[in-house]
Amino acid sequence: MLPHTANEFEYDFSMQLRYNYRLEPWPRHRLALGKAFGCALVVFNDALAAREAAHQAGEPYLTDAQLSARLTAAKKTPERAWLNDVSAVVLQEALADLNTAYRNFFASFNGTRAGPTAGKPRFRSRKDHRQAVRFTANARFRVLANGKLRLPKIGDVPVRWSRPLPSEPSSVTVIEDSAGRYFASFVVKADPCALPETGPVVGIDLGLHHFVVLSDGRKITAPQFLRRAEKLLKRRQRELSRKQKGSRNRDKARRKVARAHARVADARRDFHHQLSTALIRDNQAVAIEDLAVKGLARTRLAKSIHDAGWSAFAGMLEYKARLYGRKFHRIGRFVPTSQICSVCGVKDGPKPLHVRIWQCGACGTWLDRDVNAAVNVATAAGLAVTACRAQIRPGHALAQRGEAGTHLKSRREVG
Ligand SMILES: [Zn+2]
Repeated sequence: MLPHTANEFEYDFSMQLRYNYRLEPWPRHRLALGKAFGCALVVFNDALAAREAAHQAGEPYLTDAQLSARLTAAKKTPERAWLNDVSAVVLQEALADLNTAYRNFFASFNGTRAGPTAGKPRFRSRKDHRQAVRFTANARFRVLANGKLRLPKIGDVPVRWSRPLPSEPSSVTVIEDSAGRYFASFVVKADPCALPETGPVVGIDLGLHHFVVLSDGRKITAPQFLRRAEKLLKRRQRELSRKQKGSRNRDKARRKVARAHARVADARRDFHHQLSTALIRDNQAVAIEDLAVKGLARTRLAKSIHDAGWSAFAGMLEYKARLYGRKFHRIGRFVPTSQICSVCGVKDGPKPLHVRIWQCGACGTWLDRDVNAAVNVATAAGLAVTACRAQIRPGHALAQRGEAGTHLKSRREVG
């Protein structure tokens, strides 16, 4: 499990999946990896500085080929001769990262890129939370028969194989996170395989007090292990804030915070995987509301949405739907899901956030805010959901039925 939410997306659209494993490098591997991280960082920063200098001097944009030629030349100078100590592929891949960052930036600038805006490429730092180098097939990395990962100019690094690799990986990224842990992230081509067709379809909405609310009335909260990890993180952060600046204890506390952070990210990712797999397995089609998180950035809802990693979860649903032959729909924000009665379709205007339940003025149905929204998401996607629990009877409404939520822990309830 990769520990960083910024790299949460585990796929790209060519159906390449990432398989992540813990590495257990020996001291000499750590030393060699540290060198590789450092070299990749210098190559990246040198190239970025060269492009910025050219830009400031009013010269034309340095092409990818020009940067590559500069790197080759630099390796022959005494100041950069140490770049020869690491795999050449690692350095080329650092340049490739920069080129991708520039392309995303330009595409964002021209408005040709979907998704979050990509900013101008920034210099990397030794102090970044994540150091990484990538080895492609050209680098001749190899998984050995004894289970170790052979990395050129690093050595044979022990791997904790939590599950088998499904096929030959095309590349591996080696990562050190802020908690000092090492990971290997393999890219593997996935062959889509359709699951047997199934009947149910489901609308999914973000609940205010639950991670998701389903159109069939189920409300799913984060599991115990995630909430416990979050609680521990909060405590560690409080402890850190009480430590004196510059003290040795503060350093120790900071490392503890980093480890707690990593644990929360891992737990959250596990939860997202379990839930998205269950939803895709059990439904022929899923529809979710596409929360334009940027638009919500200034509201008080924003923090919880960012924290909960909604977009990462939606991404998992999307790629698993493609992988297993299910339908996936994203519903735009313009559909006012909380303003329409999911039973009769009458739009009766916005309601303040504290209104959790109301009676439709037109048809008299009692509606639960979250479930009603989830049903509307499904309807907007053209899915005919059976909203058996969407409507609640007034007696139940007073008892706040369903507010207890469904825990993922009891897997049978989820699916
Ligand atoms: Zn109604």
